Amino acid sequence: MVATAKSLAEKPNLHEVARKQLDKAARAIALDPDVHTILSQPKNELIINFPVRMDDGSYRAFKGYRIQHSNIMGPFKGGMRYHEEVSLDEVKALAAWMTYKSVLHEIPFGGAKGGIKFNPRLHSKSELERVTRRFTHALGSNIGPEWDIPAPDVGTNAQTMVWMMDTYMNVVGTERQEVRGVVTGKTVAAGGSPGRETATGQGVVHCITEWARENRFDLDGKAFMVQGFGNVGSHTARILAKTGATLIATGDYRGYIANPEGLNPHKLAEHVAHTGSVVEYRGAKPISRQEFFALEADILIPAALELEIGVEEAKALKVKLIVEGANGPTYPEAEEILAERGIDLVPDILANSGGVIVSYYEWLQNKRSERWDLEEVETRLETRMKTTFEQVRELAAERNFDLRTAAYAIGLDRLQRVYRERGIFP
Ligand code: NAD
Repeated sequence: MVATAKSLAEKPNLHEVARKQLDKAARAIALDPDVHTILSQPKNELIINFPVRMDDGSYRAFKGYRIQHSNIMGPFKGGMRYHEEVSLDEVKALAAWMTYKSVLHEIPFGGAKGGIKFNPRLHSKSELERVTRRFTHALGSNIGPEWDIPAPDVGTNAQTMVWMMDTYMNVVGTERQEVRGVVTGKTVAAGGSPGRETATGQGVVHCITEWARENRFDLDGKAFMVQGFGNVGSHTARILAKTGATLIATGDYRGYIANPEGLNPHKLAEHVAHTGSVVEYRGAKPISRQEFFALEADILIPAALELEIGVEEAKALKVKLIVEGANGPTYPEAEEILAERGIDLVPDILANSGGVIVSYYEWLQNKRSERWDLEEVETRLETRMKTTFEQVRELAAERNFDLRTAAYAIGLDRLQRVYRERGIFP
């Protein structure tokens, strides 16, 4: 039986999961043991407890994290998560994945991640603004456009990034116009890039169309399911629908829904914008989490939180392809079962990197005081995603690696080369 949703505390330690993935790829390419040791832990771990005034005049203490995993390839880079189950080990794993994602796609950034442990749904907009600004101020010079560049993640959005940018700008003095790139994923009006909001979903869809091309699999008329209908899930569904594929089921923190005839992802996104959840959407019937994972479909896109596909889900799934929109959605043990069952898996560091790729374009535009149009951003993103997909697929075929190990292998090899050339100080 497929278990009901587990809280993150009941799941395996995410940092251990990331370590297992690293160890497996390190063995596969005989990674230099010193480089392996360095990459096994983040460079810097920052935890900040800070007070914020609530709307009723009372004060509440918050715990914020910023983990900087590696900056050997460029400034630390990674999202900010607002969620009640944010923890040190979760953020450490997410920070490491950012390092591998950027290096895999040849983006000159390192890896970082941050977050605040609280439920943003329980707070007003003005409280969210004060929490964001107070944390940004407390981070001080630990972030910066040439040092560490946050972006949106679960529970944060373009508005959160604009508050962070504005707070940072207000404390740096006369260079304020030069520091717009301290965060990416901003609104376009405040210096963001066209195409950033949809970038992660668009990148997921590029991976799906490449996989379909390689496998001579016509997407028209095929069925897909998406777990999580936030930024990544809803944009993936809306963009993938253009290929003629049909969304037949989805779900979020409140529940799951299905319609074998198809759900309209645009109308569903409007419903979520109004109500905050996919549940109670007219034109679908409610189903359990267990039923969701046992549905017959062609493609599953996990786009919610980590560690959602365990052993039970891997045994129950009736799909041909899983594309990881979320970071770390699959347990290592489940991955083995999926491989035995012939279910292909495109890993997170390859599939969900559209966000960091377009973040890099946003950062470049800010640095050069330029404004690119949507077409330019989308064309560059498509070329980048398809080039990397092909590199990973070729290495996997050549060395008989799974796609995750191949993606890691490419990134680790590049990191290893730079460590060899630069040496380890002193
Ligand atoms: P989001 O906050 O916009 O959406 C998250 C979605 O997951 C929501 O629909 C939420 O209801 C759902 N969810 C939360 N808990 C759930 C549970 N227990 N069961 C089922 N659904 C649940 O976040 P997002 O930005 O779309 O991020 C989703 C995933 O994608 C995360 O793993 C994130 O790290 C990853 N990611 C995001 C980006 C980005 O650009 N935003 C980039 C790369 C990877």
